[in-house]
Amino acid sequence: MSAPRMLTGDRPTGRLHLGHYVGSIANRVKLHQRYESFFIIADLHMLTTKNTREDIEQVSRNAREMVTDILAAGVDPARATFYLQSAIPEVGDLNTLFQNLVTVPRLERVPSIKDMARDAGKEEIPYGLLGYPVLQAADILSVKGQVVPVGKDNAAHVEVTREIARRFNHLYGEVFPVPELISSETPTLVGTDGQGKMNKSRGNAIALSDDPAAVRRKVMGMYTDPNRVRADVPGTVEGNPVFAYHDVFNPDRGQVEELKARYRAGRVGDVEVKEKLAVALNRFLDPIRERRARFEADSGLVDQLIVEGTERTRAEVRRTLVEVRRAMGLTSAYSQVRRRAERHRKAVATPA
Ligand code: ATP
Ligand code: MG
Repeated sequence: MSAPRMLTGDRPTGRLHLGHYVGSIANRVKLHQRYESFFIIADLHMLTTKNTREDIEQVSRNAREMVTDILAAGVDPARATFYLQSAIPEVGDLNTLFQNLVTVPRLERVPSIKDMARDAGKEEIPYGLLGYPVLQAADILSVKGQVVPVGKDNAAHVEVTREIARRFNHLYGEVFPVPELISSETPTLVGTDGQGKMNKSRGNAIALSDDPAAVRRKVMGMYTDPNRVRADVPGTVEGNPVFAYHDVFNPDRGQVEELKARYRAGRVGDVEVKEKLAVALNRFLDPIRERRARFEADSGLVDQLIVEGTERTRAEVRRTLVEVRRAMGLTSAYSQVRRRAERHRKAVATPA
């Protein structure tokens, strides 16, 4: 029996950041050896909020950078299939069929849809954006994904996928597994501005590819406890993004606990807490930087991986679509029409 499958991915809208890492990539690194792993470059999903010619022109470069970031984070290229969503038109066919298995009010209740519309500066929700979770169901189910490691903002989408899989199986027979969500230890990483999740469109992100000086500069500019005007004023650790990052990225637990105690007592300045965070983050990023340099030196490798992965995935998706159409009875609908047309053609050609 083949290994169970994992599917996850990102929209090719720019470099990956620490939020992507904690929400999803850390789990990919941990799990990709155990599952047969598909990593989607979700450019059709990108179109739901960014669809200008300029946005689309960036896709090929962003795709390569994104895959490079994922490999740099520790995914073994021999153990993962990367593919470009828009190069597999059959995913759109599956999306069309799935659109009838979910209602508009159900999709309107998915909280991230409104957030994405707002972040993109849209007053009204495009039809495609409302259908974001349906297209995601098409991605996951087209390769019969069984586990989906994603961040908290994406959890409600996976729930829609589960509902669509169950609905399909109920109506047409058991074709799909009902995939499991794999959530991360840190479901949402706050941005450097402390104003909601780290998000590249809000400019509060630290990229996995930022150099040490950029990381240090961003950390020194981070939002902390706004009530703390001087180092001798007791500060609040809870909800403070600098400490949230220490908790996730600083492996020296003793140092973190000591800084928290001194912070609460008004015995340490923000500068020292941030300096130590910058050091911890750069230590965390150094091995990622080293691996990235190796993948960048091997020019052509990443593009080649995407091409091979896309071909492989397309064959897989085609197989699923044949099965889906057969289960639904669409295949026999057309063959019946063809048989009638054939009978008619013969009757006309050989009059009695
Ligand atoms: P951004 O939100 O920065 O614009 P994006 O929306 O293009 O990036 P997605 O492709 O939607 O990113 O997300 C890819 C994965 O990363 C998803 O699983 C998502 O849940 C996760 N993720 C993104 N941002 C965060 C965050 N700040 N904290 C935790 N997980 C995150
Ligand atoms: Mg997002």
